[in-house]
Amino acid sequence: MDIKSLYREIVNEHNLHPIHKHDLENPTLVLNGVNPSCGDDIDLQLVVKDGVIRDAAFNGSGCAVSQASADMMCDLLIGKSEEEAKRLSDLFMGMIKGQKLTEEEKEELDEAASLEDVSHMPARVKCATLGWRTVKEMVDKLSETGTLE
Ligand SMILES: [Zn+2]
Repeated sequence: MDIKSLYREIVNEHNLHPIHKHDLENPTLVLNGVNPSCGDDIDLQLVVKDGVIRDAAFNGSGCAVSQASADMMCDLLIGKSEEEAKRLSDLFMGMIKGQKLTEEEKEELDEAASLEDVSHMPARVKCATLGWRTVKEMVDKLSETGTLE
């Protein structure tokens, strides 16, 4: 399977059968993220306890790339610390902006690394990064206000 069909397959799978697209019962943090240029609109929900993301989910609507990327991201975030979440979102956004990642860095991103090709699709960049930008904003706010728990 070449990288392009792998990309399509993974995006399709997460878009049609998202694992984390639902509302959490008791999220400690909720932030809305929008990408007006495409019409993507998600509410990202996290349960953060003792500085660790215990659960992550999203709800909303948008194109396949935005929804699939948010789903992969939630999967990756569960069990990660605030700092790790920040690092992963920086890695992902760097990759989408065309930075070359090392094999180790790609492994850290797991399935989300399959979206690397989006860096050659300018119209899809904001779709792919929507969830990641939103989580970064959440984590930044947390470190400013210190209301993690
Ligand atoms: Zn989109």
